[in-house]
Amino acid sequence: MLPMATQAPIALTTNIADVTGVGSSSARRYRKISIRCVADLVLHLPVRYEHELPEQSIEQASNLVSPVHGAEANIAVCGEIAVVRTLRGRHPRIEATLEDGSGTIKLTWFNTPWMRGQLHPGMGLRVWGKIKRYGDYLEMINPHYQTIDADRPSEPRSERFRPIYSGTEDLPSAMIERAVQAVLDPTLAQLDDHLHDQYRTERALPTLAEAYRMVHRPTDADEPKAGRRRLAFDELLLLQLAVFLKRRHRREALRAPALKHNQAIDSHITARFPFQLTESQRTVIDEIAADLKVPTPMNRLLQGDVGAGKTVVALYAMLMAVADGHQAAMMAPTELLAEQHYASISEMLSGARVSIELLTGSLTAAEKKSVLARLISGEIDILIGTHALLTETVRFHSLAVAVIDEQHRFGVHQRAKLRVKSGEATSAPHTLVMTATPIPRTLSLTLFGDLDVSTIRGLPPGRKPVITKYVSQSQADEVYAYVAKRLAQGEQAYVVVPVVDESDRGLKDVHSHLDWLEKGHFKGRRLASLHGRVDRDQREQTMKRFRAGEIDALVATTVIEVGVDVPNASVMLIEHADRFGLAQLHQLRGRIGRGSRASLCVLLADPVTDDAKARLEVIATTDDGFEIAEKDLEIRGPGELFGAKQSGLAPFRVAELPRDLDLLRMARRDARSWIEENPTLAGERDALLRTRVLKAHGKALGLGDVA
Ligand code: ADP
Ligand code: MG
Repeated sequence: MLPMATQAPIALTTNIADVTGVGSSSARRYRKISIRCVADLVLHLPVRYEHELPEQSIEQASNLVSPVHGAEANIAVCGEIAVVRTLRGRHPRIEATLEDGSGTIKLTWFNTPWMRGQLHPGMGLRVWGKIKRYGDYLEMINPHYQTIDADRPSEPRSERFRPIYSGTEDLPSAMIERAVQAVLDPTLAQLDDHLHDQYRTERALPTLAEAYRMVHRPTDADEPKAGRRRLAFDELLLLQLAVFLKRRHRREALRAPALKHNQAIDSHITARFPFQLTESQRTVIDEIAADLKVPTPMNRLLQGDVGAGKTVVALYAMLMAVADGHQAAMMAPTELLAEQHYASISEMLSGARVSIELLTGSLTAAEKKSVLARLISGEIDILIGTHALLTETVRFHSLAVAVIDEQHRFGVHQRAKLRVKSGEATSAPHTLVMTATPIPRTLSLTLFGDLDVSTIRGLPPGRKPVITKYVSQSQADEVYAYVAKRLAQGEQAYVVVPVVDESDRGLKDVHSHLDWLEKGHFKGRRLASLHGRVDRDQREQTMKRFRAGEIDALVATTVIEVGVDVPNASVMLIEHADRFGLAQLHQLRGRIGRGSRASLCVLLADPVTDDAKARLEVIATTDDGFEIAEKDLEIRGPGELFGAKQSGLAPFRVAELPRDLDLLRMARRDARSWIEENPTLAGERDALLRTRVLKAHGKALGLGDVA
């Protein structure tokens, strides 16, 4: 066992520079990998383990190998080098003989020129690896080795599972290992467990201290797994407890306007819609209306595939607010999308006595001032906008319903911020969060675990499925020639490229691609470009002309990903499709297939990575957004998804989804009943747990006021 620190006592908050054997210069290297204090060090978990065999005498080792020629065994021995030879020629190698008084073995290293001159007779050596019997002698080929002090033989090493840490070139695993071992015992002795004994034993979870010990200093191959299970469970449990605390708080402490709803209001609202609601839309609307009728703030996630028709559902909720004399807000992730919502909602409400306004970053100061004044006076009924709605100066007279479109682009923090717009700390609007990227169940349970979920299944009637083809760049000419024919027949197309300007990465860009098409395959057709750098007016003009059929093909970046709705556009070509994420491809494809024609989506790509290949295959074989979302999670892992990073909640340090789904279920179930039993985690038994939950998630979930 390593000696314990002798100077200042080690605490979790002890600076890494004060750890025995670290010092200020290597502390800098630790800080580079975000290890600043002892707690960070202990939280830096090994990435894997090296199984070190127990050390034996050569005689014992030789008894392990059966006397048959060619028999093998894994061993570790210590001894002294008797002879070393360096052999050149066709099979350059180093041969040595190792003896320990009980026997002799031959060591051979092939192709290891760097070892030349490193070994000398008389040198002490520990070797481990596979030993093989050749007739009457034993040989190890390319064994691992370590020099030792032959004059001062140490205790024979016992079996060990040596932790391997991720480090850097100048902070190797062994160095981190030494530091961890130096702090582990004193640190763990101070580590109180936030889970009480009965709870732990019922679930076969080790104590927190024991879990860290198992991970950093396992005594067998199974301990790291058991330790990790506890640590992963902890992360999930703390998050779920935070989520249920928040939920309970919202239900108990916050009040939203209870909105009037009856048959007359319903007919009045639906009469505005230019189509019959689908059964699924109706179901979802009923769920929402039921929420809005009570003074508990709704907190609902509305998911439905691209084009499923979420907008009217949101509009229904907003009109319920207006019908009862309150206001509603709708926040979209991009200006283009906010503008489109504004346009389509204005159209549906034309002639109605509902005042709608648009608030985006591009308003002039005077326009903005006027909007804000009419908002606070209550003149404006519905405000649609971008994240500009979140600014401090945006104050509603009486906000009853807040709709957030495309939640995954915002994240939990912002969700919390929009809520407080209505003034008093105890009032909150009903919140409807919409996403067109179906959230895999696994994730919605964690990231969005405090939301109730409504799902629109299927698409409105009359849609033809989109045919998706995935082809190599080498077929681009054929593809464009074919698309040109369809354009000649009056169809419209989107051509999506990854960048606006020529880049050094050899990607197709909007400008040169437009040029290439104008002079080539699409000669004589009406073309236009669309990307984020074009100003709002011009972008809107272009979209209007495209929608009006005055443009045949639009060469664009992913700005068209969300929103735009042009039923006559029935072809989409995506260049460098391997550069886009699954959710993005699915969104892009959702722009077509909105009219009566059979639509075609062509993915042009020659993917090099396995991930990219997998993505393209998924998108080519299914158009079910839910399935795509699950696949996306499998391929990319959850950390990348849905702005999870910005949300401040994921990724986890130890837990990993969907791998730890069972643990997540257990955490969720337990957290729910825990909060039911002790709604504020009050009392001595849960005091530490409460502190840790708030420390981990209080800020991100806006739990500061739960006290
Ligand atoms: P998303 O769910 O992607 O936001 P939208 O709300 O933009 O979808 O709806 C996509 C299209 O479907 C729009 O043109 C909309 O008018 C139309 N739509 C929505 N609901 C219906 C319905 N019940 N019947 C026919 N068309 C509908
Ligand atoms: Mg939408």
